[in-house]
This record gives sequence, C-alpha cells and structure tokens, in this order.
Amino acid sequence: MGDHAMEEPEMDATLRVDGNAVAGLLDQLFRFEITSAMATCDGCGRETAVGALDVYDLDMGAVLRCPACDRVMMRATQIRAVWRVEMRGVRLLRAGA
Ligand SMILES: [Zn+2]
Repeated sequence: MGDHAMEEPEMDATLRVDGNAVAGLLDQLFRFEITSAMATCDGCGRETAVGALDVYDLDMGAVLRCPACDRVMMRATQIRAVWRVEMRGVRLLRAGA
C-alpha cells in the first residue's frame, strides 16, 4: 500500500476549468489531520505518518525528513502572515480512512 503512483487520466481540453470550480473539493481535501496523513518518500518509497517524520525545527519554520533515508520531504516557513510549504520530497500524501 501507499506506493501506488496516481494515474493521470487522458486530459480533454474541453473539460478544463480553473481551481475555483473545485473549491469545495479542495476545501475538504485540506481539512484533514495532517499529522496522521501518510506521506510517501520520493527517495526511498517508504510511507510514514507526517507526525512520525524527523523534524528539524528552525526559527522561521521546519524541515521534515524521511526517517528511513533522511531525504527532505517537506519544508515549511512562515514569514509574517505568509506560509510557504514545499513538498518535493513527498511522492504521495494519503489522508482519511
Ligand atoms: Zn526515504
């Protein structure tokens, strides 16, 4: 489990809308409990609960690393009221039951 790549269906340009059209979906999506979400490392493929990642707590934010291979999975910073989250090291984030 957890190592399944998300399959991209063929895209039909006539079906294209913008992100506002899926506001309800995105609103539900980003309401999950982040620490219990499962993150798959893009380096080694291991799936780990976000709450169990190794964290390096820095002044302006945090760096979260894979406990298996030490790859950086997430970086989060807050500068004044602006949050920035970079998740290049997460192949897949799985949340919910
Ligand atoms: Zn890893």
